[in-house]
Amino acid sequence: MIDIVFATGNRHKLREVQEIIGPDFRLRTPDEFGITEEIPETQDTLEGNALQKAEYINKKCGLPCFADDTGLFTDALGGEPGIYSARYAGEGKNASDNIKKLLANLKGKTNRKAHFRTVIAYVDADRKELFEGRVDGVILDTLSGEGGFGYDPVFYPDRYDGKYSFAELSPAHKNEISHRGEAVRKFAAFLRSNR
Ligand code: IMP
Repeated sequence: MIDIVFATGNRHKLREVQEIIGPDFRLRTPDEFGITEEIPETQDTLEGNALQKAEYINKKCGLPCFADDTGLFTDALGGEPGIYSARYAGEGKNASDNIKKLLANLKGKTNRKAHFRTVIAYVDADRKELFEGRVDGVILDTLSGEGGFGYDPVFYPDRYDGKYSFAELSPAHKNEISHRGEAVRKFAAFLRSNR
């Protein structure tokens, strides 16, 4: 059994990633090592932020670590909200506020293309590695579906020709085609081949 620290406080993500990575690796969390402060995330790219978080935790606990960072990038808004996806409508606002702001900014724009991108950074004593996943789609004005989180109700992956939003897919189905699913599967393959 190999211990790896996942720089996240999100239990839901932890479970999801553990399932894909499998039983040969045991995912630990920063709080198990007394790291309870907010992990710094001050860079201006997904790669920079993911690396910053993984390096911070690796330095503190000395074990192999990884961190992820995700953003939604729209063509018509020059990549907005991008690295600011979580707090697009401001600190203390929720997903529904973020969606409202996004739809307001896209009002009247004919180019609705957008993509989610996830970067996972892995850091151990000798290596730093990055893994990426991406899914393309469109942002539509109609909110559909009850599942998922964040921008899922307005993101319609190209795979379904704009018929279904991410929030209408089952978690397993979303995982199969999503940015995060792709990045985690690449990372899991790396771990297994470097065991
Ligand atoms: P994080 O880096 O995974 O915390 O993602 C940052 C922000 O991107 C989240 O707070 C959400 O607003 C958005 N986001 C990330 N992944 C998804 C997704 O799968 N669906 C919808 N929104 C997402």
